[in-house]
Amino acid sequence: MQVDEKKLANFRRIFDYLSTSKSMVITAGAGIGVNSGLADYRGNGGQWGTVEAEAGKSVFDVVNPKIFSENPQYGWKLFASRLIEYSKTNPHLGFQILQNWIQLFNLDFFVLTSNIDNQFQKAGFNEDKIRELHGSVFYLQCSTPCTNSIWKHDIQLDTILLDIEQGNYPICPKCGKISRPNVYMFRDNTYLSEMSNEQEFRFQEFLKNNGDSPMIVFEIGSGPHVQSIRKKTRMLGIEYKAKIVRINTQDSKIREPHIGIAQGALESLIEINEYIMQEMSLK
Ligand SMILES: [Zn+2]
Repeated sequence: MQVDEKKLANFRRIFDYLSTSKSMVITAGAGIGVNSGLADYRGNGGQWGTVEAEAGKSVFDVVNPKIFSENPQYGWKLFASRLIEYSKTNPHLGFQILQNWIQLFNLDFFVLTSNIDNQFQKAGFNEDKIRELHGSVFYLQCSTPCTNSIWKHDIQLDTILLDIEQGNYPICPKCGKISRPNVYMFRDNTYLSEMSNEQEFRFQEFLKNNGDSPMIVFEIGSGPHVQSIRKKTRMLGIEYKAKIVRINTQDSKIREPHIGIAQGALESLIEINEYIMQEMSLK
């Protein structure tokens, strides 16, 4: 068997970082969901490319709150399809591996994700420890908005696409007008940020409690297109001296002492986990 020395050296350092850390932050982009069968945003066959081809216009004009007044049928069809897809999808084993490490190394943790797909919650991560930077398609708000209310969707997934075709859209219970997902869209000035603010408050509390102790960051599947996640990773590296493990098939470059792994999420996590399990059994 050919041993990849560089890989092994990286795994050894990841094991050391995990062993000496007191907390873990997972910063995740669309790439983490690819192994569960979800599409990436950018890159080949990405969601945005598909949306643009379908709509015949830029993603900035489609994934945009004005779609709900200009073409509500298209807007709701787009998001309802996502909701159905995400609801059917089961998070891959990598999510479980990350949770096992949190337990094994007795770490406090927090998840920052640009995904709107509820996969971390579904995988069993405590929802009080998740910050969804772009909101969630599982929560709705009024499109006007007439109040600050955000509510968990109660959409019937098996009939919603037919309802939308017939012009029956999920509505705001307060004013009866069309609702929209509590997703932070492009050029969005009607997004209600109450839920984001609460999540951000809990993340700041986490930083207060853990900021002075060694921290490890797993940045998984977040390309340079989604600066919201990369910025957070960078901030944790600079301000909190966190050690960063960047897992990304196309863009894993990062400076020492951080570690870049140019592989998919699931494959990388399984390999690292095998190394860790082996090390633990030798102890
Ligand atoms: Zn309303």
